[in-house]
Amino acid sequence: MPNFQSPDQIIRPEILALSAYHVPPATGMIKLDAMENPYPLPAVLREEIAQLTATVPVNRYPDASAASLKAALRQALAISDEMDILLGNGSDEIIQIIAMAAAKPGAVLMSVEPAFVMFRMIATFANMPYVGVPLKKDFSLDLEAMLAAIEKHKPAVIFLAYPNNPTGNLFDANAILTIIRATSGIVIVDEAYHAFADASMINQLTQYPNLLLMRTLSKLGLAGLRLGLLIGRSEWLTQLEKVRLPYNVGIMTQLIAEKVLHHTDVLLEQAEAIKAERTKVRQYLDTIDGLEVFPSDANFILFRVHTASKIFQALKQHRILIKNLDGTHPLLENCLRVTVGTPDENSQFCEILRTILSKTV
Ligand code: PMP
Repeated sequence: MPNFQSPDQIIRPEILALSAYHVPPATGMIKLDAMENPYPLPAVLREEIAQLTATVPVNRYPDASAASLKAALRQALAISDEMDILLGNGSDEIIQIIAMAAAKPGAVLMSVEPAFVMFRMIATFANMPYVGVPLKKDFSLDLEAMLAAIEKHKPAVIFLAYPNNPTGNLFDANAILTIIRATSGIVIVDEAYHAFADASMINQLTQYPNLLLMRTLSKLGLAGLRLGLLIGRSEWLTQLEKVRLPYNVGIMTQLIAEKVLHHTDVLLEQAEAIKAERTKVRQYLDTIDGLEVFPSDANFILFRVHTASKIFQALKQHRILIKNLDGTHPLLENCLRVTVGTPDENSQFCEILRTILSKTV
């Protein structure tokens, strides 16, 4: 019998040092922590989906190329024929595909801080050194610092979310273009929150050979399906396709997403409703003393309070789940992030927050 090695002998030290991505239990809670669209699909559409799925050949593997779904995406998102599409089991998986493909020894993955935590975590999974360049205090891009970091670290890959999570703002488009021109690596502009912002870099794809654009259906109302996409030139996507597992997008996801994409008006109307609610929540939060509310082009709002962890816990006791960012980055001290929900969820959140604050201040 060999002497079995323990996990800490087999698993890489940088994985042992990680904390797993934490998804808190949310049963029975008003769930405003994960940037989901709070609205269900209309009943008629759900009925059509039910009929469609009744006859799905689940004994067969899905279409590995997802050709029909890609055609629907191309049309719904106005993706030019010049660009290819790569699909992921959520855009999380696309970040992983890119990192795995680019992880030459020592190749650097760069982003800003604070940013979407999976950029950093996936760099670690792929054994890539990660460089996070701090944003300015107002969460805008520190272009000078970015350019200096690019010069110093020569990153293979840069991820920039546009709008950014968890801050909610859009970075200056010209600053992003300057970064794209300054780096010899690839830049992935992550437009997960595109539906809530009136801006996109999609039209820049033809101009910049080192630019790739990432989107997801998660924030649009299909988070449970897990579908993300990368849009870019075939010279890049042909290589990245080799790292994609053949059946990463299941048959149910392909069928349902394609069906819903033929009704994008429904999703876009819901996004408009969320934007209108975002304005209302923001205006309400602005009236509360002791809150600092940051501007948002996404479906969530970041705000600062005096004692974030206390407020977070008190909200939780009232069955309202938001995200506590205190302690995750110095710039996010005492910051909380709330996803915009339905009008009813939002007013419950606002009223309970006001009551809690009036007791703790
Ligand atoms: N990018 C950003 C900026 C995000 O905030 C998220 C989700 N929180 C994702 C990507 C991943 O989304 P998904 O895997 O659901 O497509």
